[in-house]
This record gives sequence, structure tokens and C-alpha cells, in this order.
Amino acid sequence: MRLTKAQKLQLVICPHCNIDMERLEIEVPGPNVFIDYCPKCNSYWFDKGEFRKIVKDRLAEKNVGKQEGMNEWVKFGCPRCGENMRMKFMYNVEVDQCDECGGIWLDDGELLQLKEKYLERIQDKHTRGFFNKLYTLKMDRK
Ligand SMILES: [Zn+2]
Ligand SMILES: [Zn+2]
Repeated sequence: MRLTKAQKLQLVICPHCNIDMERLEIEVPGPNVFIDYCPKCNSYWFDKGEFRKIVKDRLAEKNVGKQEGMNEWVKFGCPRCGENMRMKFMYNVEVDQCDECGGIWLDDGELLQLKEKYLERIQDKHTRGFFNKLYTLKMDRK
């Protein structure tokens, strides 16, 4: 399923806190990316393609795989389209991905783990900038 522009502009409601998530503008080459952020539980929502654009790694979302023998269904529905989410792994970090629209949900701890794994793997200034930016934005609020 491909999201229309109008769908992407709609605010996402955090499935944990039941409040509107905020939009964060992330600078990337080309049109900037707007991701959704929950200020209450510090979770992030990336529509399909957004994570990949931000970390400038074409394969980032293709590397998401599942772990055998685990209960892979996530308890909450996709904040974007309401379909079922599955627990998957991106660089050995657990992430939740929607089967239908391909969006990715990351909570605070997952993002931190991904930051560590990613920085280990990719010595890219831009990627570092992205993670640092998310963390700076968060700290500004406190
Ligand atoms: Zn929340
Ligand atoms: Zn979805």
C-alpha cells in the first residue's frame, strides 16, 4: 500500500498514550522528511522510506528481518493505517513494522540501541547528525 500525500500529512496518534504525535522536520538532501514523535513516551514513527532517507542507507529498511520461533505479533495496531504490526529486527535491534504500509515504530530504548549499532556500522557524518539531532530535540523539551 502506498500512502497518499494527504494521508502522510495526517497526524499520527500514539498507540500507547493516545495523544497526537508531534511532527519533527529532519533535513535530508531533497525534500525534508517529517517524522512523528510522541513527547510523552518518546517514541518515533517513520513512514515507509523515511528512515532509509534519513540514514542515507538504501538498504536500511530491506535489512529488517524476523526472528524465528518468536511471537512476532505486536500488541498495538499500526498508528498510520491500523493494520497489524510485527516485531522485526534491524541490525539486531527489535523494531515494530507494519505489514501493510511498511512504516516503522521505534520506542526510546530501541532508538538508542539502533543509534549504537548504527554508529558502529556506518561512520557517516550525516547519520550521526540524525541521531544526535533527535536526542537534542528531546533534551530541549525537558
Ligand atoms: Zn506515546
Ligand atoms: Zn500501517
